Amino acid sequence: FFGRLTEGLSRTSTKLTTGVTDIFTKKKLDEDTLEELEDLLLSADLGTGPTEEVVGRLRRERVGQDVTDEEVKAILAEVVADTLRPLEKPLAVNPSHAPHVILVVGVNGAGKTTTIGKLASKMKAEGHSVLLAAGDTFRAAAIEQLAVWGERANVPVLTKPNGADAAGLAYEAIEKARTEGHDVVLIDTAGRLQNRSELMDELGKIVRVIKKLAPEAPHDTLLVLDATVGQNAISQASAFTEIAGVTGLVMTKLDGTARGGILVALGDKFELPIHYIGVGEGIDDLRPFDAGEFARALTA
Ligand code: GDP
Repeated sequence: FFGRLTEGLSRTSTKLTTGVTDIFTKKKLDEDTLEELEDLLLSADLGTGPTEEVVGRLRRERVGQDVTDEEVKAILAEVVADTLRPLEKPLAVNPSHAPHVILVVGVNGAGKTTTIGKLASKMKAEGHSVLLAAGDTFRAAAIEQLAVWGERANVPVLTKPNGADAAGLAYEAIEKARTEGHDVVLIDTAGRLQNRSELMDELGKIVRVIKKLAPEAPHDTLLVLDATVGQNAISQASAFTEIAGVTGLVMTKLDGTARGGILVALGDKFELPIHYIGVGEGIDDLRPFDAGEFARALTA
């Protein structure tokens, strides 16, 4: 896995590490090099908090001294790991919820359906009985795609025709899970963020209707974010935390992007648990988030 993440983040880490090397080769640490470093870290989407932390530490500890690129990278890795370590949190299914209801939100294309398929496979392998609900009822393709993932993961999928009421489908999914004894329900949702009030109405209605059957549900609301959109992930997270009461994050497409640094900015800003990261399109390409591994891959 570490190899996979290192390979996946190689475009981000190449940008960061060659940048650091360029700045710190044959140079003393002074305000100019610190400013160059600050620009580099910001352009790699690390966010202002973690960037200031790295720059501040170097300024306090090392100004006027020779500093090697390796030392700077080590400090960078440490700051990234320290920022994200409190957010490492595997998704915990509580079977006594009977069923544990997980609502999955995010804009179209972020990777919701794919992530649900991967999660279903993982949870099934852990011994759970999983039901999927194809709640993105606005797009026929999304319904079909979830059905395909259900086959791949070998778990049942509750679908309704295109245009059906998503809240009603979610309600039925919970009823079905109770009747058939599934302990987890993963609910896909529509993600048209261009119309914020419509999205808010839709997600709000799903939650209201779910609560009629299961007042504590949804037990988790996962926001799926695509790493390749860089800074846009921040505005998506702002919108969805406000609209949907997000309880945790999954970041997809960390394979092959130069924008993996955005996870650091997100973690720093929102302090939401980062449950999983997506590192490919395959069923096994969902990994529990490990801050240390991520930090090493980012600075490798
Ligand atoms: P949704 O609209 O949010 O449900 O997004 P989809 O699940 O349909 O995913 C959109 C595209 O992103 C699909 O082509 C997926 O194969 C791809 N995708 C999802 N997760 C990952 C990932 O971790 N890595 C890569 N490379 N592609 C991914």
